[in-house]
Amino acid sequence: MRIPKDEPFYRTVANEVEVFEHAWKNRLPLLLKGPTGVGKSRFVEYMSHKLQRPLISIACHEETSSTDLIGRYIIKGAETVWIDGPLTRALKEGALLYMDEIAEARPDVIVAIHPLTDHRRQLYLDKTGETVEGHPDFMFVASFNPGYQKGFKDLKPSTRQRFVSLSFEYPSADLEKEIIMGETGIEADMAAALVKIGNKIRNLTDMGLTETVSTRLLVDAAKLIRSGLFRRLAVEVAVVEPLTDDPDILSALKDMTALMI
Ligand code: ADP
Repeated sequence: MRIPKDEPFYRTVANEVEVFEHAWKNRLPLLLKGPTGVGKSRFVEYMSHKLQRPLISIACHEETSSTDLIGRYIIKGAETVWIDGPLTRALKEGALLYMDEIAEARPDVIVAIHPLTDHRRQLYLDKTGETVEGHPDFMFVASFNPGYQKGFKDLKPSTRQRFVSLSFEYPSADLEKEIIMGETGIEADMAAALVKIGNKIRNLTDMGLTETVSTRLLVDAAKLIRSGLFRRLAVEVAVVEPLTDDPDILSALKDMTALMI
């Protein structure tokens, strides 16, 4: 549980800061929708600093169960003691709770969070028989990758409709260039070339890529170039290789990007 000491670097893309502030004022749960690597987690860190509220982040995956989040009894010496999980702590202490990739969590997690996301703002701990009331400053934030292709888990409408929702898209070319430069200190021409590569691959919709180039991948390539890696190799390993394992597509993308950097 922490508030970032320094303001995290975050470039506002649209009206997301305003929406977040109003959701917070009204204690409404917020869902950040969008592909991976577009700045959702960074945005939440930024808001934690801006609102001076501690942040508890949980990366959800298929093994994440409600026990992991709510808490469990553990044996300590001769005693059994109850340890609050991150969700319970956030609720008690009035933190921003960020559940990243919420659709990946097991169904029992989704059931457990429902009472947190409506007017009740409370959690029943069935193992201790206690009902935890949400601290007035508690806020629930989650992210979800709608991924229109197969392989992505969906969220039920009954869960979605509990959240005020904001869509995150890839930033405009100018903004993405600024983000890459701000994040890595790379020069403008190189940042512009990386953005061009990103957009070129994003437009290749017929390659059947499950996910396309995120700002994160471009930032990673810029970091490698900045630290002295040959730029074509940096693009290959940071941008192209993470996208696919198909040898033909890899080779086509490598040829294409080599001409652009
Ligand atoms: P997500 O949570 O959407 O998967 P992240 O927040 O982890 O994505 O963003 C990935 C990286 O992309 C960040 O570490 C940061 O370098 C960069 N980034 C993306 N969008 C922004 C933005 N608007 N401002 C600053 N950095 C950004």
